[in-house]
Amino acid sequence: MVSASAAIAQQAQPTHHWAIVIHGGAGVIERSKLGPEGDAEYRAGLKQAIEAGSAVLDKGGSAVDAVEAVLQVLEDDPHFNAGRGSVFTAEGKNEMDSSIMDGSNLKAGAVAGVTTTRHPISAARAVMEKSPHVMIAGPGADRFAASVGLKQEEPSFFFTEARWQSLVKQLTKEGKPIPPRPAGVPPEGKMIPVAQLEESPDTHLYGTTGVVALDRQGNIAAGTSTGGLQGKMPGRVGDSPIIGAGTYASNQSCAVSATGSGEYFIRLGVAREVCNLVYFRGMKLQDAADQVIHKELEALHGDGGVIAITPDGQLAWSFNTPGMFRAKLTEGGTIQVGVYNDEP
Ligand code: ASP
Repeated sequence: MVSASAAIAQQAQPTHHWAIVIHGGAGVIERSKLGPEGDAEYRAGLKQAIEAGSAVLDKGGSAVDAVEAVLQVLEDDPHFNAGRGSVFTAEGKNEMDSSIMDGSNLKAGAVAGVTTTRHPISAARAVMEKSPHVMIAGPGADRFAASVGLKQEEPSFFFTEARWQSLVKQLTKEGKPIPPRPAGVPPEGKMIPVAQLEESPDTHLYGTTGVVALDRQGNIAAGTSTGGLQGKMPGRVGDSPIIGAGTYASNQSCAVSATGSGEYFIRLGVAREVCNLVYFRGMKLQDAADQVIHKELEALHGDGGVIAITPDGQLAWSFNTPGMFRAKLTEGGTIQVGVYNDEP
């Protein structure tokens, strides 16, 4: 008898054109707020990240390898809300969530609330490949990551002045106490001029990072990595590490990574919902993504977006916010980067 996962793997075609789609978060991202400099910085960051993933795929690497490679770059880039540059909880800490899923065998791994692991996506992958579990949360997740040799950092490594000032603004506006600056960070100095972070605190910027990839074997994978929502309650976990909500991948339907107001994405099971529409209703990927974001998510008053890919090479993105940092590339093509909602 052939097992379910073997049956899925057998459907893979040997010679596919690889493809990849990435996001760096959705939200109120407007030209006037970002400015030409901020705009150029974000586009350069997205380009560098997608190049890391396409280099893997072009050498015949797996979709899972490509997902990890891209997210490591975005986690190290302080512009994005993942790894270094993560937003702070209401108590002034960085608590990061991440997940990964391999569409060829439905294996998945996730970590929630990590505080010292430099690359949460690699911890999620280690949970998938080196533990019997799908999700590990809190200090146990960092300890597990360290035990498999993943680089650990002091919590101050993840600190950025711009995110800190953004937290201070939000808490001040909400009349909440301002936590002390984290230990080991430089004394308060001039604010780093990352234009979009000087936005008013009630605009939302979901700077989460995500990737979906299709490799030459015809396998797809998805991954997501985030610092979560600014000012969140300590211990709060969003959709990003929840398989089926922020991340999902199956070779039988599609791979999805989400960004947005995580509570709504969890309640709708957004990532799995997109794949279900493809699988059960036979919808085209773009239509399925649009239906979930523009109908189902909007009906709940949630905001954000998704990126998605199918094993037959359909690529999609869909979002209901003024912008979503995003880029895509298909083998032999040129990188298409987008930020605002009036771009293709
Ligand atoms: N979805 C993430 C969360 O709720 C936030 C984001 O997309 O930026 O944790």
